[in-house]
Amino acid sequence: MKVLVLGAGQLARMMSLAGTPLNLKVSAYDVNSDTIVDPVTQLQLGTGLAQAIANADVITSEFEHIPYPVQELCQQSGKFLPNSTAIKAGGDRRQEKQLLDKAGVTNAAYKIVVTEQDFYQAIEQLGLPLVLKSALAGYDGKGQWRLKTQADAQAVWADIQQFMAGADHTLPQAIVAEQFVRFDREVSLVGARNQAGDMVVYPLTENHHVAGVLAVSLALPGQQELQQQAKQMFEAVATALDYVGVLALEFFQVGDTLLVNEIAPRVHNSGHWTQQGADTCQFENHLRAVCGLPLGSTALVRPTLMVNILGEDHVSPAVLSLPSCHLHWYGKGKRPGRKMGHINLSAASTSELAQRFDLLRQHLPEQEFPELDLVAARLKQLQ
Ligand code: AMP
Repeated sequence: MKVLVLGAGQLARMMSLAGTPLNLKVSAYDVNSDTIVDPVTQLQLGTGLAQAIANADVITSEFEHIPYPVQELCQQSGKFLPNSTAIKAGGDRRQEKQLLDKAGVTNAAYKIVVTEQDFYQAIEQLGLPLVLKSALAGYDGKGQWRLKTQADAQAVWADIQQFMAGADHTLPQAIVAEQFVRFDREVSLVGARNQAGDMVVYPLTENHHVAGVLAVSLALPGQQELQQQAKQMFEAVATALDYVGVLALEFFQVGDTLLVNEIAPRVHNSGHWTQQGADTCQFENHLRAVCGLPLGSTALVRPTLMVNILGEDHVSPAVLSLPSCHLHWYGKGKRPGRKMGHINLSAASTSELAQRFDLLRQHLPEQEFPELDLVAARLKQLQ
């Protein structure tokens, strides 16, 4: 089967690598250059978008900020999975919040802000601190403001106004003002749904961020009650969207309760550990779902963690001498903070994973990987 992916980044690349053994031929639409490329080599394939849509058996997406006219074309072809409603919900925080409310899924209290009056009403109704997020084009902590005290309100509003005026959007921009959640930790659930409505989910993953960007994900056994709670929320959202493919839900955990922070209608960075730690990786399961193939087992085969390589194009090759340590580069040009690759590390038990992580840390400079001490301490706590 021929699969066209909207977006030509590392997620399309990893889908292509996972699809090859199943004879699935993946090509990708590079939104920036408006060309069709091989997602592994980045070589242009010489077809235009219309031709690629006609040639494809299935069209899917690797990110949610796809221009609406492109989404419409794909939707009209009848081959677009997941559907455009799901992609749009992932790319516009207003639609995302409406969806979560409709699906009856707990999320942080919020108010949509367009005018200055809305802004001050949000402060009054939701209280401080507030997290303010641009409805469109916001990801990895970008387009976000924290408002802690009333005294800062004017300055924050001025900043937001400037941001909204400067944004080059064809769609009306707005801000979602959210109550600040004092969470204990952040976790995510990645799962897949097929056209018949069957669903499978991976084990919950604990996530650690640096400056709003995912740095480390831990997939560990246990957590049955939380897993059940997350699964129910996943099923509610996936069913409300009549979703087909891999979908990720990011949560705040407060005590024993989960609140959805956001959804990602695609394979997700916090699911990269599945390449070495799960029976079937998320990339293969996404392709299986959209191609109408049976879904694969999502069982955790061994405790696994993932470390993102951010803004660096080199790590010591000695990491490959460590047992069950795998390096995945994305073949991208170096830019500060850019997701350049990741490392997956596995072990037979959590305590062995903690030991191996200590060995791995010796090869990763603290300057480039500032979060690792904290994660090492966390792993020791979890043993
Ligand atoms: P997001 O882009 O929505 O994933 O936000 C980036 C990061 O900001 C999250 O991973 C959280 O660490 C933090 N954050 C976002 N929303 C809230 C909130 N309502 N309360 C507390 N922290 C938040």
